[in-house]
Amino acid sequence: MNSVTRPGRVGIMGGTFDPIHYGHLVTAEAARWEFALDKVIFVPSGRPPHKKDYQVTRAEYRYQMTVLATTSNPYFEVSRSEIDREGYSYTVDTICAFRRAYGPQTQLYFITGADAILEILTWKDVDRLLRECQFIAATRPGFQLNRLEESRPQLPVEGRHRIHLIEVPALAISSTDIRWRVKNNQPIKYLLPEAVEEYICSRGLYRPRPDGVYDKG
Ligand code: ATP
Ligand code: MG
Repeated sequence: MNSVTRPGRVGIMGGTFDPIHYGHLVTAEAARWEFALDKVIFVPSGRPPHKKDYQVTRAEYRYQMTVLATTSNPYFEVSRSEIDREGYSYTVDTICAFRRAYGPQTQLYFITGADAILEILTWKDVDRLLRECQFIAATRPGFQLNRLEESRPQLPVEGRHRIHLIEVPALAISSTDIRWRVKNNQPIKYLLPEAVEEYICSRGLYRPRPDGVYDKG
């Protein structure tokens, strides 16, 4: 990519996306709009370090669902960078890879739910992360803004102003709830794009197998 075509402001939306849902999509679009981002790149995680215990659905399926969910938005892209990488995926490695690809002039914004940003303090190389990108944290139901404010003093001084909060419509949607609903024959319609719902149905994702083992795809 040459410098002429390099976009100035890029959003990066990391997640397990197991499955992707309207909470993710509304958040990404709100961030794009409020921060005038040229695009938002969805990055489905490979082997998430924080979900070691829970067996995550095969990366290829999560990637395909993310592609299906985002194709109708010309500002959305999906990256295979984490799923094609060996070993655990650390956000800092992903951000640094995008930094190398886009060069020093591009402003990178990592978009997360506000609950996830609280975990930032436990992430590897948080100082470096805050130097390389800014954060856009969307509030989600039940999240107390003051909890984030309280955690800010623990962040490196020069990094604190690089965390921005946005409000998104109260979407109490989570992948955990969607997986639970499928498993328990509850409707998931209108919680996620129809194409993703059809994909889940056709592959039989999140359904208990006849032998009682929960099928991870
Ligand atoms: P799970 O229930 O399996 O943890 P999830 O719904 O939280 O799944 P993730 O893939 O873990 O989805 O989340 C990716 C990112 O999207 C995280 O930064 C998370 O905070 C954010 N996010 C998830 N759901 C919402 C929502 N309803 N509104 C705003 N942000 C969300
Ligand atoms: Mg989550």
